[in-house]
Amino acid sequence: MRRRDLLEGSVAAAAAGVFPDTLSHRSSLPPGTPIGEPVELYPEAYQIRSLLGKRNLLQYLLVGDAVVLFDTGIALTPQTTIFPCMKKLGLRPEQITLAVNSHADGDHQGGNFALKQASPRTLLACGVGDQAMIEDPQVLWDFRYNFLQSDYGVGIEPTPSPDAGKAQKIDLCFLGNERIRVRKDWEVEVLHVPGHSRGQLTFYDRQHRTAFVADAVHGRGCPKAAGGMALPVTYYYVDVYLSTLNLLANLEIDTLYTAHWPIMRGGEIQDFLAASRQTVQIFDEVLLASLRRQASGLTMAELIEAIGGAFSDWPKDTLIFSMFSVKGHLDRLEEWGKVRLVRDTRPFRWIAA
Ligand SMILES: [Zn+2]
Repeated sequence: MRRRDLLEGSVAAAAAGVFPDTLSHRSSLPPGTPIGEPVELYPEAYQIRSLLGKRNLLQYLLVGDAVVLFDTGIALTPQTTIFPCMKKLGLRPEQITLAVNSHADGDHQGGNFALKQASPRTLLACGVGDQAMIEDPQVLWDFRYNFLQSDYGVGIEPTPSPDAGKAQKIDLCFLGNERIRVRKDWEVEVLHVPGHSRGQLTFYDRQHRTAFVADAVHGRGCPKAAGGMALPVTYYYVDVYLSTLNLLANLEIDTLYTAHWPIMRGGEIQDFLAASRQTVQIFDEVLLASLRRQASGLTMAELIEAIGGAFSDWPKDTLIFSMFSVKGHLDRLEEWGKVRLVRDTRPFRWIAA
């Protein structure tokens, strides 16, 4: 694929893609898949499921003396999915004590405004490192999705998608290691698991030997609900991502709940973490080998294309979203003295050192 095609692909992906209509792809699900039905994972812990394009979009609800929601979905998710699910459990939106955004992304925070409208006394929370991007979709767009635009020539459309919701202030921020008492005999620990974002959070339920990690771990990409890949990996801070993988590998858990991947149990969890580590390794190898083959250096768009060659199951129209991991790896390779960033013309390019 030529660079121009890749950039045009990015526009198509942005228009069709990061936050497509939650409801329009229901028919692509396997028959009998409950959508809009809360699924009880273990007593009083529920998974709430809808679709975001062809991907699963999952929130979690813990119901005790406090009602704790993990992620708010896109702008419409509270009205279309979360509240109807709660109604089936005999709960009203105003009963949500605390809603925690796992991290800064439109599909995890977009419902904040709608939730506050329906339940002004619900406390909204997130990781302190993600607060500014979670409170304002324009900040999210400028500093998370388009921060490579001017120097590296890659990005998405400049205006936030309506799916990312309206600006909404956060009530409290977590640094990690806090505990939330859901009921007098049930608490969950908040863990700081950066990598995909700076402030990403996980809920660790030690008592039930489970963790709710949202998008903290990426395997070798984000799957479609019906199978096959939907998106490349999108972690950014490589070293802290590896630390997060180690942290999760050492948790005593039997089940792992994410925001887009299937439920994982036992050995599947270690396999997922191993695939994540292997992906990190492949990125380093492919990026370095590509730069060593091209003495004049390569731009971000050309390196994205090279990574796409190594992960042939990633759809071409979403390949642009590997830009975050590509940049994270190149920053790290630069720190190691293995590559050099050349800033004399835009887009910038890297050269093997
Ligand atoms: Zn997500």
